[in-house]
Amino acid sequence: MTAPLFDTIAVIGLGLIGSSVTRGVKARGLARRLVGYDVSEDVRARASKLGFCDEIATTPQAAVAGAELVVVAVPVGVTAAAVEAVGPSLKDGAVVTEVGSVKATVIRKVLDVLPARAVFVPGHPIAGTEHSGPDAGFAELFEGRWCILTPCERSTEEAVAKVAALWRALGSAVETMTPEYHDIVLAITSHIPHLIAYNIVGTAADMEEVTQSEVIKFSAGGFRDFTRIAASDPVMWRDVFLNNKEAVLEMLGRFSEDLAALQRMIRWDDGDALLKLFIRTRALRRGIIEAGQDTRAADFGRPHGHKE
Ligand code: NAP
Repeated sequence: MTAPLFDTIAVIGLGLIGSSVTRGVKARGLARRLVGYDVSEDVRARASKLGFCDEIATTPQAAVAGAELVVVAVPVGVTAAAVEAVGPSLKDGAVVTEVGSVKATVIRKVLDVLPARAVFVPGHPIAGTEHSGPDAGFAELFEGRWCILTPCERSTEEAVAKVAALWRALGSAVETMTPEYHDIVLAITSHIPHLIAYNIVGTAADMEEVTQSEVIKFSAGGFRDFTRIAASDPVMWRDVFLNNKEAVLEMLGRFSEDLAALQRMIRWDDGDALLKLFIRTRALRRGIIEAGQDTRAADFGRPHGHKE
């Protein structure tokens, strides 16, 4: 336990990320008072039962009243609407932050509705699982992970430092970059991999010559790992692709070119070229393990120590 960094923190959206933030804040005593709100009555009821907030508010306005820090953890398609809803009740100088997987378009929409008396520090914890909802969260989710902050014209140095302190206290290392750069980096490291997983699992589901039961039975051949990613929250990922359109389409273009090159190597029996590429990709995997961003275990991407 550390001394509280904040007086009141309000968290809007109590799914995987929001409830992991509240669990982490509570476990480490980072706020004197922790209030949560979710648009879904069922989620609010579940959150009350799980007890990961001090209070569960029944309106977004009540949740943020008096809060020094407001963490918005909803799908990126509704982030601006969630900020707009709490706007009238934000206290003077309140710091609003969010955790969305897309930055530039979301920031633009939030800036249109953010009241003048509040400041805004966009962020994105690079941590997650394929699970969603209030039961999926856990206090250690952000430990040993990165959190990217993308300050904008309504961020102050002081507010950026406060939000960075929160993520550090939750166990993450913090890096700052521009929203546009974030969106390109995440397109290749997260969004395209999810798109590929959704596509390959969709293709397998549509195949007629191989039955579903065979796909399931022999899934350990690599397919299984794609199904984990393709089980990620549908609403969250629809919103990611619609809000990071430009970067995703740009990266998808490059990916398609490289795929065509691979197709050619196979067609023309170019084993040397295949070998060269596979040696290069194996080295990148080693780099990820050495950086502590994954273990050697086959269940890639799962947070260390998290039991499913
Ligand atoms: P989640 O588990 O589905 O939780 C989102 C919660 O927000 C749901 O309970 C949802 O309720 C609620 N909600 C929707 N609109 C709301 C509103 N206007 N006001 C209050 N609550 C609202 O999703 P998540 O995985 O936590 O993702 C939340 C955010 O974190 C997204 O922006 C995502 O891009 C980002 N993120 C996700 C991951 C990941 O791996 N999952 C990692 C990093 C960042 P309903 O279900 O009833 O709509």
